[in-house]
This record gives sequence, C-alpha cells and structure tokens, in this order.
Amino acid sequence: MGGFFGSVGKEPCVTDIFYGTDYHSHLGTKRAGMVTFDRENGFNRVIHSIERDYFRSKFEDQLDGFIGNSGVGVVSDTDPQPIIVNSHLGRYAVVTVAKINNIREIAEELLAKKMHFSELSANRVNQTELVALLINMGETFVEGINLVYKKIKGSCSMLILTDNGIIAARDYLGRTPIVLGHKPGAYAAASESSSFPNLDYKELRDVGPGEIVRLTADGVEVLQKAATRCQICSFLWVYYGFPASSYEGINVEHVREEAGRIMGEEDTTEADCVCGIPDSGVGHALGYADGHGIPYQRAVLKYTPTWPRSFTPGNQSRRDLVARMKLIPNPTILKNKDVVFCDDSIVRGTQLRDNVRTFFESGAKGVHARISCPPLVYGCPFIGFTSSKSDMELISRQIIRDFEGEDVSSETLGRYATTGTPEYERMVEEIGRRLGLSTLQFSKIETLVNSIGMPKEKICTHCFDGSSFDPDQAYACDHPES
Ligand code: SF4
Repeated sequence: MGGFFGSVGKEPCVTDIFYGTDYHSHLGTKRAGMVTFDRENGFNRVIHSIERDYFRSKFEDQLDGFIGNSGVGVVSDTDPQPIIVNSHLGRYAVVTVAKINNIREIAEELLAKKMHFSELSANRVNQTELVALLINMGETFVEGINLVYKKIKGSCSMLILTDNGIIAARDYLGRTPIVLGHKPGAYAAASESSSFPNLDYKELRDVGPGEIVRLTADGVEVLQKAATRCQICSFLWVYYGFPASSYEGINVEHVREEAGRIMGEEDTTEADCVCGIPDSGVGHALGYADGHGIPYQRAVLKYTPTWPRSFTPGNQSRRDLVARMKLIPNPTILKNKDVVFCDDSIVRGTQLRDNVRTFFESGAKGVHARISCPPLVYGCPFIGFTSSKSDMELISRQIIRDFEGEDVSSETLGRYATTGTPEYERMVEEIGRRLGLSTLQFSKIETLVNSIGMPKEKICTHCFDGSSFDPDQAYACDHPES
C-alpha cells in the first residue's frame, strides 16, 4: 500500500514532513520520497529505496536541503515518487497511494496521444507519473483529478504540492483515507491521523470520498464536495492501520478490541490465557481476554530492537524466515497451557504454521487461533493487499481448489465465503488442520462490520465476501453528462 503526509504553513515545514512521513513507515516498505517547495528555490526532491533501511536513517542527513513552508512526503510499496511536473497547470509535485489495474491500457491510450513517460522503473510505467499525465489533461487540477477518478480501475488518493498550497484528493470511492489536521499557522493532510499529535496537529476531519480540497497556511478550501457513497477498506482497521489512528472518526484499536470482545464472548473454548500475535493481533487479544474472561499474557513477543517494522526481503522464503525470526515464544508462559492466539488474518498461512509448531515445541498443551477477520477468499483488486499475483496464493483458495477442482463457480465460492455453511465449516477445519492448530475460528463478517460501526454498504468487504460496488456506475450517476 503506502501512506503520505503533507503540510503547509507560515513557518518552514521540513521537521513536520520528515516525522509526519516517518509515522507512515508501517504502510510501505519499498520507496520513500520527500519534496518541499520554496518560492525562491522551487522544488527540492529526494527519493530513496527503503527496502534495507528505515525512512529516518535514509533522509536524516539530507534535511538541510529541504527549504520551504510547504511539502509532502510518501512511503510506498510501488514506484519511486514524488513526481515533479512542469505543465500548463504550473509546476507541481504529486504523491499517490494507488493501485491502478488498467495501467497498461491507459498508458497505451496516452502514448497514442503522443504523450510520453520518463520515469520508467524496472521497465514499468510509474503509476504516479501516469496519474500526473492524466491530471495534465484537465483544464484545471479539479478537472484533471476527475479524469483520474474516471479512468483508473483500482483506487487512487493523492496529494499535489503546488506553488499555492497542497491539493488533497481522496480516492473516488474513499477506499483509502486522507485526514486533515491543523495547528496554529499550519495545515496538514495525512493517511494516518496518528502522525498528528506529536507534531501538535489537531485532527480536523476526514476528506470525503472523491472530495478535493486545497490546504494553505490560512485554511482549507473545498474544491469539490465529497460524495455520500463510500467503500473504505475494512482491512484498514484489521491490519493496515496504526492503532492510534482513526478513519471516518473510528479508532483502529477500538475496532480491534471490540471485534475481539465479541469473539471472546461467543467462544465456548476453554483456555488458560490469550495472547496477541504482534503487532496487529494485540488489540483483538485484549478485547478477547475481556469478553472471554481469561488473562491476557504475552506468550510470544516481537524482537523490537532489530525488527521494529516490517522488513520485506525480495524472495518469499527469506520473508518467511524473517517473519519467523521476529517472534520469540516464551516457554514459561506456554508450558502446559491451552493458549488462544489472536492474529489479524491468514493469507498463505506459512507464518502461522511455523509459529504454531514453535508454540507446541515450547510446551503449549493447546494452540487455538482466533482471527480478527473472516477468511480471505477473494484477492484484493482495489488497494493491493498482499503481493499475491493470484488469488490461489490464499490458503482458503488452495483448499477450495483441492475440494472442488480448478473450475469453481461464483456460487460455490460464495458458499465457502458464508459463515456457517457446510462448505465454510469444512474449509475452516482444513485450514486449522494444515496449520497444526488445536482449534481455529474466524471473526464473522457481521462482527467486523458491527465493530467498525459504519453501514455495511459503505465499507469494502470484497476480500471476505466477494461483494462489489460498480465504480463506473457511481461515476455515471455523479456525472450524467460525461
Ligand atoms: S478487497 Fe479487502 S483489502 Fe481490498 S479494499 Fe476491499 S476490504 Fe480492503
């Protein structure tokens, strides 16, 4: 995925951009960039790979080169950015949190119109540059951004640093968030509201789906109103989000605890204690402990001194090894105990399977997994959750294929995705068996939706239940003349 932070004020902003962007490091592991704007010096931009180093260590020595009262920063799992553009709209820098599935088709269309791409990385079109080319096709920024909304399949939220403040435009269906903050003399826009308190920003409000605003040192101007429809990613609360962040005013940790509490209340399994798999399983486990009436104990810990964040080596077996090395079991707590472990989700299951084996080897009598979301049955076409090239990397899909063969109808898939059907029960039992678990339960979709507290039709739950929302239809409703 990725995350960004932008700030504009009456004073130099480099400290805010540096730390504000750093607070998004959990959202991206490949590239990071910062750019500031100053009337005399123009744009100053630096981009680094963060595959082997942290954001802070990469940019710290270069902070003196950033001059100006406005700037944006980004961490991402995709291409290098910010992209700096000189166009009929003026000079600007753009950062995106985006997944563009039809990037090839749009690129071919633009090339046929005699446009060109200059930021090819790994022989691919840079999707932020593609967004910039689409913006340039508009008579105004708002027109150009609407062309992005109309053309792309996937999602795209963006910050545009101009010589007149920062334009923040949230994805057309609000799949990814943008939140606004304010402190005396400055305004900020960020993916994570948790980036605000230590920089003295107070959270103002979320930018709505499809809304476009301009931030200057003096305030926030709405350039295009928000739509009422929304498809914010429910997985933000389950996995992506930092616990102190809120989206649509709903706190991540609160949702995790609430989902865990409901699960703990409904679970009849007898256990001695509950533990969260760090970090995203911890909130769920605290809630579960409360709901089930058993103590929370740290039966497994993350080795934070050298693994403070996700480190994602290029190859899968090395990633699995790193994931395993980060977590250290505590045999004193595990010995002869039935322990419930709460985790955010099961994608391929490799890491959890390794953990389960280690827990038993460390003396656990029973290992019970409780997962904060329903089984992942459908790949994510919207924000790029998991690097999976294919839905078949999901353990649930592998099991469905083993049960049903290669050609599975959408009705059959739907039965596996529906809690309580015989197909669902059989799939969950098989996942548990393959992972070596004593018992396994997933959160129900109703539990997840109720814990978030928004109407289901405003939340994306596609990867759990295959539900979808037609963005083309939404666009046609909003722009009947287009
Ligand atoms: S498919 Fe899943 S991960 Fe993707 S946007 Fe929807 S809820 Fe989020």
